[in-house]
Amino acid sequence: MEDCIFCKIISGEIPSYKIYEDDFVFAFLDINPTSLGHTLVVPKKHNKDVFDIEEEYLKRTILISKKIAKKMKEVLDCDGVNVYNNSGASAGQIIFHFHIHVIPRKNGDMVDFKPIKVSEDDLRLICDKLKIEE
Ligand code: AMP
Ligand code: ZN
Repeated sequence: MEDCIFCKIISGEIPSYKIYEDDFVFAFLDINPTSLGHTLVVPKKHNKDVFDIEEEYLKRTILISKKIAKKMKEVLDCDGVNVYNNSGASAGQIIFHFHIHVIPRKNGDMVDFKPIKVSEDDLRLICDKLKIEE
């Protein structure tokens, strides 16, 4: 869809730190992460939010979110993850292309869901660790 930043990331028009891609789903690092490894999992078809996402895309997106959560546990040694979606401005949605946030958590990490400071090097390193080849 025109002017959708996530559609442009999926098409490669805007660069991203890609973690995973298949025919239905694209996953990449959030550029303003709330913890290091914060990943966005996005259906390739433009659907706005949970109210209009097609079921097949929803299923595939949540299954890949699980795969990424497991990979986080393996390679980042996290204790848990937050897996969530914001639908609607009232719920804090900023980008109106459905996406699931997967956020690695450690016991006592004090994450407050505000962006943390990260460098390009941090993102590159974490991207290499989390990358899943199809
Ligand atoms: P939401 O509030 O659920 O719509 O979250 C949108 C997320 O997209 C935010 O956490 C932003 O930091 C993230 N974001 C916005 N632009 C980009 C981008 N170009 N690359 C990666 N993440 C982005
Ligand atoms: Zn889009």
